[in-house]
Amino acid sequence: MASSSKPTRENRTITVDFQDETTYFQLLGDTKAFVEWVLAFLLALGFQLTHKATCHGDGCLTRHSHYARVRLGGLTIWRVQCTTCKAVFTVLPHFVLRYRQMPPEVARGALLATHGGLSLERCAVLYHISPMALYRVVCAFGRQSLVTVLTQCGLLLPPYFLADEKHSRCLTEKVYLPTIVCGRVIWHLGYTTEASAVALTQAYQEFQHAAVHHEPSYRVKGILIDGFDSTTKSLQTLFPGVRLGNCLRHAIIKLPGKLVAIASPMRKALRSQFHTLWYRVRQRKGLRIFALGQRLRHFADHVTHTAGVANGERVRRWFQEKKAGWYAVLADPQMPVTSTLLDQAHNAIERKLFAMKGFHHPSGNQQAFLTGLAHLYNLVPYQRRAQHAGQCGVEVEGGRVPTRDWFLNLQILTSGGYQRVADTLYH
Ligand SMILES: [Zn+2]
Repeated sequence: MASSSKPTRENRTITVDFQDETTYFQLLGDTKAFVEWVLAFLLALGFQLTHKATCHGDGCLTRHSHYARVRLGGLTIWRVQCTTCKAVFTVLPHFVLRYRQMPPEVARGALLATHGGLSLERCAVLYHISPMALYRVVCAFGRQSLVTVLTQCGLLLPPYFLADEKHSRCLTEKVYLPTIVCGRVIWHLGYTTEASAVALTQAYQEFQHAAVHHEPSYRVKGILIDGFDSTTKSLQTLFPGVRLGNCLRHAIIKLPGKLVAIASPMRKALRSQFHTLWYRVRQRKGLRIFALGQRLRHFADHVTHTAGVANGERVRRWFQEKKAGWYAVLADPQMPVTSTLLDQAHNAIERKLFAMKGFHHPSGNQQAFLTGLAHLYNLVPYQRRAQHAGQCGVEVEGGRVPTRDWFLNLQILTSGGYQRVADTLYH
């Protein structure tokens, strides 16, 4: 079973918006106008072409450039070449998908329905395509890494993030989806068949590699986890010295489970007292860790007095296990406090995987498929009545998308031949 995506070969395809097919066919007859259109589109995006490493790409696509025509399914596709580094860029008009027969308008509808939770089979019926064709379209977009797409949108690599594994199934096998989320965007959605520290390290390492490749000085300051042992070990290995925190919301949710054989009103009372404890500690400006340590000791004593020695001991041991993670959250005001946004991302992805039998395709490329779903999660705008209506996750986090059309954005950002020009987007 393919567990990781194939190494991406140098792909210099660029998707260019020609507005309508007629314009494109007219431009095919005029080399100079064609190149000018491409250059104007680049300028509008604030992007640069991905030249070879030694090339600065300064004014390469002039009339000195070399052009070639290839025919794809009866359509003429142009390639343009940089005169300096000889890099060749395939110019894909917006109305065709790379390597796909499927018209973009069909893919747009089917992907939106998929993202909305409609099953692969239903999408296939509605849009007159095979479920496998839709599966492959998701995979095709998933060949481009999340880090590449998000940084192209001007998002900085996250100094703090949430990390956890979603447990899922592929046929009868248990599988895990190691996930990295910061605010409303997914930075990594991996796939592994084991939950060992080694397996998780490998999975999270894909994010680390991509991030460091993009920004060699990238350092993670803090990560919020749920305290699972393999997760802790793998993240400590990958990001030595990182602050690892435990979700404070989970602390409150999990307390009642530690209280055995007591009446329900007492359990409820203790839960609400514990809630107040956290509220008070978080309100404090200074000495929060000291205050928390003291209050946790008092609370454990209180449990012993009201709910018996056994419960008191259980709660004390649990505090002992978790308190380092809670201290980590309180010690740094920038640390995320709850993992709610990660849970939301997991629920969204889980709904799709549940609805999609394609995921259970044994020879499928799960990694590319999951990455494709994560791109949709990041780039499809929230619906009309949602809190951030009309904006996509990337925009909510302060990033910029190339155009107002999410599907065109998906095509452009995953096409491979573009890169961001530093600091031009915000001028
Ligand atoms: Zn060049």
